[in-house]
Amino acid sequence: MADLLSILRSRFGFDSFRPHQAEACATLADGHDCLLVMPTGAGKSLCYQLPAVARGGSALVVSPLISLMEDQVGKLSAQGLNAARIHSGRPREESRQACFDWVEGKLDFLFISPERLRVPGFVEWLAKRKPGLVAVDEAHCISQWGHDFRPDYRLLGGRLDLLRGKGVRHDSGELPPESSQTPVIALTATATPLVQRDIIEQLGLHDCKRLIHGFRRTNLGIEVVELKPSQRADAVLEVLVGARPSRPQESGPEVRAPLPAIVYVPSRKECEALAARIAQSVPCMPYHAGLSAGDRDRAQAAFLAGDVSVIVATIAFGMGIDKHNVRTVIHTALPGSLEGYYQEIGRAGRDGKPSRAILMWSWADKRLHEWFMERDYPPVKDMRALWGALSNRATDLESLASELNLDVSTVGSRLDKLAAQGGARIDAEGYVTRGGDKWIDGYQRQLEHKRDQLDRMLNFAQGHGCRMLALLNHFGDPDNSRACGRCDVCAPQQCTLKSFRAPRPRELAVLRQIMDALRGRDDLSTGKLFRDNFEQHMKRGEFEDLLGALVQNGLVTTRDDMWEKDGRVIQFKRASLTDAGLEIEDDLATAVMLPQASSSFSAPEAAQATKPSRSRRSRKAAEKVADPLPGPDPALVDALKAWRLQQAKREGVQAFRIFGNKTLDAIAAAKPRTRDELLNVPGIGPAKLEAYGDGILEITRA
Ligand code: ADP
Ligand code: MG
Repeated sequence: MADLLSILRSRFGFDSFRPHQAEACATLADGHDCLLVMPTGAGKSLCYQLPAVARGGSALVVSPLISLMEDQVGKLSAQGLNAARIHSGRPREESRQACFDWVEGKLDFLFISPERLRVPGFVEWLAKRKPGLVAVDEAHCISQWGHDFRPDYRLLGGRLDLLRGKGVRHDSGELPPESSQTPVIALTATATPLVQRDIIEQLGLHDCKRLIHGFRRTNLGIEVVELKPSQRADAVLEVLVGARPSRPQESGPEVRAPLPAIVYVPSRKECEALAARIAQSVPCMPYHAGLSAGDRDRAQAAFLAGDVSVIVATIAFGMGIDKHNVRTVIHTALPGSLEGYYQEIGRAGRDGKPSRAILMWSWADKRLHEWFMERDYPPVKDMRALWGALSNRATDLESLASELNLDVSTVGSRLDKLAAQGGARIDAEGYVTRGGDKWIDGYQRQLEHKRDQLDRMLNFAQGHGCRMLALLNHFGDPDNSRACGRCDVCAPQQCTLKSFRAPRPRELAVLRQIMDALRGRDDLSTGKLFRDNFEQHMKRGEFEDLLGALVQNGLVTTRDDMWEKDGRVIQFKRASLTDAGLEIEDDLATAVMLPQASSSFSAPEAAQATKPSRSRRSRKAAEKVADPLPGPDPALVDALKAWRLQQAKREGVQAFRIFGNKTLDAIAAAKPRTRDELLNVPGIGPAKLEAYGDGILEITRA
């Protein structure tokens, strides 16, 4: 086998490996399966491309996004390698040619989309040639615990044996031994240990080497600030453009968080309103899923070109954006998961220069998430009521809704979840019958997983340790022995928004009491500490804040522990005094500083009350944006339903798996004529567009 470093230089034109690339390349080149988890931009593609060249033969790459495929095929062709791709955006003739070229061994690389695996006979055709290796890019999509689950990726598990050449006989007619099987590499930028396990299981990787590296971002200072929702917009303005809405005359503008910046907000309404306010001072545009594809492209292009220095976005912004000098990323609300959060803050400081990530949150965020969760994932008893209302006789959504005294969209959303676990069957026409009775376990796991994600996000926000370390531990990155030195915990004096104050007398009394309790007993569970001493007269959150202040000031240390109950692992913390804590005498009042929101926000309600007319106006403006769509065209709905039925039969799946009625209605209302317009319809993502775009447009254009 050729020397990997010389291939790197001669075929790829790079002088040296980036961190961890050499190890990944060697693993694969030696024929071992590998799971590679490294952040975006770390250089994962090379880790399958170089071993593919080293091993010789043709490499098969499964990739979920057309843009990613096009990008890689372009780069490989420029290196003089023969790369082809098969996806729905390609002319049929060229895809056929690619298939022939593959079988004849003319290709170095063939990229396919997971949707292709559904096409009858396709995998069998590919399997006529044994690939040199198989790469599964964006592999987190295979896990339902991953943050971008793509059901088509699940098909991979079943087809991989064929794809890696297990069924290909030698010329002699014998089947090859297992050890000569094609190696598989799964690549992703985002996978918790749970998702990592799921990927390995789903793909059936053998003796798989796990390489999880590079999550530490040395130039990123994370700052977590507790702020009421009503204070956050003002806080964003203050740090980004120096405006101090509540005290305008006090001091001149002072920009504290450098631009360019991305501000993530939780709703389209807030997106529009905040962008409009920021735009009064610096060039700023909103970006959310309710805008047309054209408006979104313009906003992204303007931000990339530097014409716009702030983008206010819902989570829809940032996939595949390659802007290296983003200095600040702000979240004005608690995200639903740490994986999503890490991806978003990862867009700051790609150029390696110091950058900031500011997260605003409060307990109100938890309640809001719980409210959404309750709506989207109701408790088992409500789902059982729905299951009980079903029978072998087909019924429709409207009758179910009136029987259960719920609105139609609530019932629809619950039905989808029930059907996903096999508890209901929905036919092509939207009629529903009862499914099996084994759905509860799966549903409960889904529910617990959602809760767990939120809990982890909350633990992170409330955490008292280094923020970067908390993230490294979350992803299972072994580089977790030193703190970052930049976050609000490691370097409070460098905070942009967060400020600190001395404890008040009552707080001081509690701090002393905690210290006394710990002096009596080391390694005490913090839950017990709270119940035995403080439960009667304070909230758990206040207690945790004060305990956290002791940790941050180096007087107390905590460690994670866990116990098992009914098969579930329950996490908790134990606290002990540090040496500094043991030695301290009576000067707690000066030894401990508590976080407080920026002093400008001491009277936020009063500040708002001075401008009622403006806030009412901006609310009006925001409501306009949310104008409902025109009604669907019934003839078009019928045509789409007929197409859906045909499609469902062809794939052997339930019709609602293709599209729900809501989505069909939305398509019929929007009457899209282009792929971009179709992508704008709620319920249509890139995967659906790729799989069904052409079929739908044929109907809507007719
Ligand atoms: P990922 O898939 O991890 O997000 P990519 O594989 O797309 O990252 O690589 C990101 C960039 O890094 C690409 O432009 C690639 O050419 C570049 N790159 C990868 N490896 C090296 C290397 N060893 N030296 C220099 N640049 C590299
Ligand atoms: Mg990649």
